Amino acid sequence: MYFIFEMKFSSNKNYITQLIRAYAAKQEIIAEVLQTDAKIVLICRQEDEKLESFLLGLEDILPSSLFFGKSKHYFSEEKPVFQSIQEVDLPVNIAPCPTCQKEMFDVASRRYYYPFTSCNNCGSQHPFLTKYPYKRANTTMKFLVPCKACEEEAKVNALRLDYKLISCIECGISIRMLDKESEHLAHNKGDFRKLFEVSGGAVAAGKSVLMKTQHGYRKFFNPKNNKDKVSESTLIIVSASALNTHLMVVEQEFNALLSIERPLLRVATKSDELKELYGSSVLVKYPDEGMTMLLSKEAVSAGLDYIAYKECDETEEADFLVDFDMPIQTQKDTKIFINQDVTLFISGERILYPTQVPSAIKRVSVAHDLACVNVDGNNIIDSLEVFDSIHSNEIYMFENEDLESQHSNEKQFGQYEASMMSVIAEHNLLGQKTVGVHFDGSLNFLYYNGTKVINAVPAIDFESDNLWEKISTLRDGSDRLVGNYKKAYPEIWERLDNLAGDMDIFEVTAITLGLEDESFEGISAEALSFLGKGGLQIDTKVKDNRFDNYAFLTSIMSYQLGDVENDYMCYSIYESFGDYIGEIVPQLLEKVKTNNLVLSGETFANQSLYARIQRTIGQYKPHTNKIFPMGKENAVHGALYL
Ligand SMILES: [Zn+2]
Ligand SMILES: [Zn+2]
Repeated sequence: MYFIFEMKFSSNKNYITQLIRAYAAKQEIIAEVLQTDAKIVLICRQEDEKLESFLLGLEDILPSSLFFGKSKHYFSEEKPVFQSIQEVDLPVNIAPCPTCQKEMFDVASRRYYYPFTSCNNCGSQHPFLTKYPYKRANTTMKFLVPCKACEEEAKVNALRLDYKLISCIECGISIRMLDKESEHLAHNKGDFRKLFEVSGGAVAAGKSVLMKTQHGYRKFFNPKNNKDKVSESTLIIVSASALNTHLMVVEQEFNALLSIERPLLRVATKSDELKELYGSSVLVKYPDEGMTMLLSKEAVSAGLDYIAYKECDETEEADFLVDFDMPIQTQKDTKIFINQDVTLFISGERILYPTQVPSAIKRVSVAHDLACVNVDGNNIIDSLEVFDSIHSNEIYMFENEDLESQHSNEKQFGQYEASMMSVIAEHNLLGQKTVGVHFDGSLNFLYYNGTKVINAVPAIDFESDNLWEKISTLRDGSDRLVGNYKKAYPEIWERLDNLAGDMDIFEVTAITLGLEDESFEGISAEALSFLGKGGLQIDTKVKDNRFDNYAFLTSIMSYQLGDVENDYMCYSIYESFGDYIGEIVPQLLEKVKTNNLVLSGETFANQSLYARIQRTIGQYKPHTNKIFPMGKENAVHGALYL
């Protein structure tokens, strides 16, 4: 009799599968662990007397993951057959697994307070990679020789068998702390612990600590003592118990924040102190890599519930500097969006990249510093820098990429077409007529005829310079509005009169409304704080069904003159976009005779717009990226199918 345990898993990443395999080996249980395109399956003999203790132990060593869905177990006389996916050994860039974390806080271990603790299936590995294929000699760790204990461990510890980046305090990366007068080098466990203790204490006391982390330089500070710095910072809740005290999180959000992938997430604030500091919502994460985790642990000891950091470079001014010499490659952090049981990746590289794509593709694509390249028979998408040389019959290059390929067969592509193809490929719609909406600052309605993507209703180009001239000639009476606006809001009028030409409509809208955060995020945060029901109709078009940015701005200005509150206005902005999309999409679907609809672009990852879209076009069951980001970083994937 077989015992079968199936866990839904919505990714081709194999660190969970491998961790279960390693643990089975460690527990000396005979188990088959395999991964399909939708789940991880564990098959054991029911008679195995170690089964029960193995399953219990599994709960302790398995991290929670963003990709996990429901699980189930059953018994079967016959051994079931599953279609496994191809597994490629790629460097991960996630938090340490539960076993590694335990080591970091075990005074008896060789990695007590060692921030670079990781194993085959966890931690920050990608930052050390210099090129493929992934082996120690191709990482910056090659400069360090493992000590005897590490060498021995790599032969016997199931979680670190032949682990490429094995290291400990004895043989690993050393760190140091500097203030204006002195420098302290950490040599042993005691020093490592002391260094983080001092750093945590400094942050608690209102000082700033510039720290090189495995995700780049971060300047850490206590938001309460540095109110002027909070606007451009990310909040770290340093203990899980403080999460519910300060934030309004539903279960899915709570689980996502604590998952081993540690994504960035915008959530509603709850406690009065956070409301005062950040307003109605805040971009938040849970400690995500060794340096940040150890600092956070000491911040808890110093009595803090949260700290904040600003992404910066090594030249940033701070009271203390914590540094290490090992060169690292950083990845753009990944933001997710959660609406009920839907989790979408908005933007970023970490967590999702590197990844592998089907090996049948014989093309290299490059977009936004990411490339898809064949390495030893596997197509890998990763940062351009980690590919040594590129051989291919053809290269698809993003039109704005700052790179000369010198390739004789180079083709260029645009964002919207590649983004749409990424969704189409993910949902197996290749070759089928599909309507698409790409919304990334500007809004485009697309049509894929089975071979190529056509911009069916392109946005009218928006240029933010000479704004008043464009608005005053929009239609009869527009010049009067401009005059009234100048009288009512002279300062905003002045600013809008002097804009550079390259700002997007959301930045200009945020400036018009006088929002502190002059971006899409600012409008979105403001919209979230609106608790009423909608109703304002904001103009989105003047002619041929095309979205008109100038008409849109004009409409906002006249409401502003009519004293409409900002939160109501911001909410209505999304509502109007949702209605406009809801009007055009059915017409297009009808016209080209298809039911396939895909959405791309990060503007869709917004609670207000998402809710509205569900109401207006939810019946057509629109597809979005699930595995790749819905923002611009999906282009490197989509270009493979252009
Ligand atoms: Zn681990
Ligand atoms: Zn060692």
